[in-house]
Amino acid sequence: MPIGYWESEHLLAPADLTIIGSGIVGMSTALQYKKLRPKDKVRILERDIIGEGGTTRNAGFACFGGPGEWLDDLEQLGQDRWLRLVEMRIRGLRTLLEMLGQEQIGLEWKGGWELFGRELKGQERARDVMRALADLNRLVAPLLDVGLGDVHPLGADRPALAEDVHRAGILNAHLAIHLPWEGMLHTGRLVSAFHAALDSQGIQRLHGCSVDTLSRLDQGVDSWSISTPRGVFRSEKVAVCTNGFARQLVPELKVETAPNRVLVLTPASGAPPEGCYHAEDGYLYFRTLDRGRVLFGGGRHYGIPWPAPGSPLEEAAAVAAWDDRLVQSAEQWLGSTAIVTHRWTGWLGVGQDREPLIGHTAPGLHHAVRMGGMGIAVGAGIGKELARRIDSE
Ligand SMILES: Cc1cc2nc3c(=O)[nH]c(=O)nc-3n(C[C@H](O)[C@H](O)[C@H](O)COP(=O)(O)OP(=O)(O)OC[C@H]3O[C@@H](n4cnc5c(N)ncnc54)[C@H](O)[C@@H]3O)c2cc1C
Repeated sequence: MPIGYWESEHLLAPADLTIIGSGIVGMSTALQYKKLRPKDKVRILERDIIGEGGTTRNAGFACFGGPGEWLDDLEQLGQDRWLRLVEMRIRGLRTLLEMLGQEQIGLEWKGGWELFGRELKGQERARDVMRALADLNRLVAPLLDVGLGDVHPLGADRPALAEDVHRAGILNAHLAIHLPWEGMLHTGRLVSAFHAALDSQGIQRLHGCSVDTLSRLDQGVDSWSISTPRGVFRSEKVAVCTNGFARQLVPELKVETAPNRVLVLTPASGAPPEGCYHAEDGYLYFRTLDRGRVLFGGGRHYGIPWPAPGSPLEEAAAVAAWDDRLVQSAEQWLGSTAIVTHRWTGWLGVGQDREPLIGHTAPGLHHAVRMGGMGIAVGAGIGKELARRIDSE
């Protein structure tokens, strides 16, 4: 349908900044940019009716990693880059709280656990983690204290990982390490709180509007042309915040799309104690919900091949195989499962390491993508940084 007079003159008139993707990064960028430039016209274009990536489909862990994953990252990134990554997550959570409020996003500081299995690999990992526990506490606790010490019930100067480790007897684990600073939030309320904040700041959100291509027309104002099935939009600056889907618009970005399956189930023998749980190096995660239900997800390490888009039969087979494995894993950790009530796929943006990509590829064309598995932790802080960079371009 072509764009009409009222639309082109007013409703869809050129914007100062157009953000593509209404995940946590896109929405945070919009709010933070509007703070810096209150008079600018900011628009978000989102292809789904709510959102198709991770932000509306995640597990709701307010987390910054656990000892098993930290040891991997330390090895891959070295101490300085690893600590910056952990700090980025903690500061990101802080920014999220400042932007939207703890109650509005349903955040509760219930704590979490990292579980190590009884098989040989789990036992070896547990041994490595126990050896590193004191060092990890020494390095991470000050970051938590500075970032969250005044808003977290634990208060200042407490270790990142509890020293009273449970050696056995919790959820079929060989070892369980308590993560006392971890929290869980309500993903649905988080997204609603963002929508309310965007609306109150006069930021336009257009859902069901997929961007097909971006092109730069000239050097003047409104120089970016944004093609959608609904017509062509103009904008002075553009921010690509489409995470795992980013290469559709900016092919040179090094980010891959990775599916993750999630189930909501009711364990026959009851839910575990309230909180968040990580297992198998973070590839499996689960948390308590209401009415004895548990959200159980992950499984990228199963290595189940996912077909290219547009192959519904192959996709149905991959989904069935993946869900079977998840139910088996859930039974391994939680005992037999009475009923599965919800199943869905969420999309991650991943790369060779866990560091997000933030930058620009042409004048006025910015991006912040590749949030990995902890984009709810880092997303708001990344949005703040992206807004700062766009403002200072
Ligand atoms: C199953 C699952 C569980 C997770 N659990 C947690 C957790 O507990 N804690 C945590 O910290 N993180 C978690 N994550 C990670 C986190 O959800 C993501 O890293 C984060 O939401 C990414 O936010 P984003 O804004 O970068 O991208 P997304 O939320 O992926 O948003 C990108 C948006 O861009 C839109 N889009 C894409 N292409 C176009 C286009 N061409 N035109 C218009 N719009 C487009 C998409 O529809 C999408 O809505 C989880 C992720 C998944 C998938």
